Amino acid sequence: MAPRPRPNPKKTPNTWPGIKNRIRGYKEQMVTLQRDLTAIPALGPQNGGKGEYAKALFLEKQLKALSPQTILNLGCPDPRVPQGIRPNLLALFEGRNPSRTIWILSHMDIVPIGDRRLWKTDPYTLKRKGDFLYGRGVEDNQQGIVSSYFAVKALEEEGVRPAYPVGLLWVSDEETGSHKGLEFFLKKKRKLFKADDLIIVPDAGNREGTMIEVAEKSMLWIKFTLLGKQCHGSRPDIGKNTLRGTAHFIIALEKLPRIFKKKDSHFDLPISTFEPTQKEANVSNINTIPGQDVFYLDCRVLPEYPLTKVIDTIRGIAVEVEKKTGLGIKIEVINSLQAPPATKADAPVVHALQEAVQAVHHKKAFPWGIGGGTVAAFFREVGLPAVVWCSAAETAHQPNEFCRLSHLIKDAQVFAHIFCQS
Ligand SMILES: [Zn+2]
Repeated sequence: MAPRPRPNPKKTPNTWPGIKNRIRGYKEQMVTLQRDLTAIPALGPQNGGKGEYAKALFLEKQLKALSPQTILNLGCPDPRVPQGIRPNLLALFEGRNPSRTIWILSHMDIVPIGDRRLWKTDPYTLKRKGDFLYGRGVEDNQQGIVSSYFAVKALEEEGVRPAYPVGLLWVSDEETGSHKGLEFFLKKKRKLFKADDLIIVPDAGNREGTMIEVAEKSMLWIKFTLLGKQCHGSRPDIGKNTLRGTAHFIIALEKLPRIFKKKDSHFDLPISTFEPTQKEANVSNINTIPGQDVFYLDCRVLPEYPLTKVIDTIRGIAVEVEKKTGLGIKIEVINSLQAPPATKADAPVVHALQEAVQAVHHKKAFPWGIGGGTVAAFFREVGLPAVVWCSAAETAHQPNEFCRLSHLIKDAQVFAHIFCQS
């Protein structure tokens, strides 16, 4: 294929109305891309899937059609998936002034569908109903992929070169810790990023598109294994029932929000939360007393509390429960992400987004803190001021997940505005 002519660098950026209209015209193409992506489930191995390889291969082709200056697929080795790697895709597009880069980071992986009976349609076949597109992954995080893709395409087709280089970065493993995704990418390619780059992660927000997330809570996932003694249901005297122990333990953990009780009104939920979530199966029949039970705790903690202190407190509670029940409790930290310093509320990326949201939504956007853990934390960890923003339907991880076409269009317009004007 012959290379496309480069966009004319002399063209001034006051081509915004043309770009805005062009994006509106992409509606059907956006549906098609959403449909194609939904049909390639990209579940990480921890979620029982084969990873993001096929989805990345498809997306790489789409990106090549936009003639980026550079395209890179940085695979992180992972023997748990058939191809042995977790892909991380980067496409860089030239800008008028190379002094900083505008990054839009989205993730390719999705979460499992959960209980299939709760879905009204096949989760992996896109269903369109008016302004609504239904399917697993359509919001989280294909909305980010599709909107940023068409923002770049609009500038390219209008012959407008962005104010600064634009980097579309599409990573793996966001839903299960980012170790094979952004964490890996930043370790290998930290030099690509500069402190005054504009970094946007379109992975959370509110319906109006007015929430710019600049801070996150710390995130802590813990696995508890209760160890007792299995026996017949009629002889509890010779066993040690771990399901009863689990119940005692869960109730004892209710102390945590009273111990870590500070409030911060910058956060959407202004308190720290400690929720028991997953419970693994124990025995397979009614008349056996279980001798082992496993459950998990998902903690979202205000950044001022060190997670080490939370873990120590949990260990203390576990010891009390061990004494009371005569059971053993094994504690494993599955994921621990201490919230890094917040992005400043007056950072250039916040201003650029506020201007763009004003131009597209005619509303004022505000800096805000959320429950985390989005991948933006990895950027902030290394001193890069990232924000999380999109117009969100807020159906991520739910059955009947949907994405609004109007959100796709407006998000693409916001990104395009930033590309043109920053
Ligand atoms: Zn997400």
